[in-house]
Amino acid sequence: MEKPKLATDWLADCAGCHMSLLDIDERIVALLEKATLTSSPITDLKHPPETGVELGVLSGACGNTSNVAVARMMRKRCGKLLALGDCAVFGGILSLRNGFDMKEALSRAYIESESTVDGFIPDSEELAKPIRNRPLDQVVEVDAYLPGCPPSADAIFETLVALVEGREPPVEGELLKYD
Ligand code: SF4
Repeated sequence: MEKPKLATDWLADCAGCHMSLLDIDERIVALLEKATLTSSPITDLKHPPETGVELGVLSGACGNTSNVAVARMMRKRCGKLLALGDCAVFGGILSLRNGFDMKEALSRAYIESESTVDGFIPDSEELAKPIRNRPLDQVVEVDAYLPGCPPSADAIFETLVALVEGREPPVEGELLKYD
């Protein structure tokens, strides 16, 4: 029988959740015995195939128009969708920006930061536009959540294996981190 397909991607995030995924170390072999990884930000193929995958995994929040497009593409192409990490589940640290006017926030980041010299706010049609930051489930429907910043490698491994096997993730107790 063909193995279920798995695709991951990231939105507005620090890459920490995918680094924690890599921390499953040699258990990647056990995971790949159960599922085919079609694409991820850390492989050559970046986007889930048009033919779809059984499980999509997204880390990061939706903080700009590109994040929304990536989230919608994954949602369209996956059976079940896992929100991985606090940014995807709750909006994460980028949500601190929501308390400020966007121009004010961009000015602080690109012009006023202590390390900036002759700064300017980038503006091009080719760049994604910043939007009010939102957790994943305010943009697309989410089927499973794994909080943590980042979730531990153990929690990620147990969750992915359960989801590709069609089980409820058994993540509780020590495997859940809210730091
Ligand atoms: S949840 Fe934490 S580790 Fe994961 S992307 Fe967000 S800030 Fe980074």
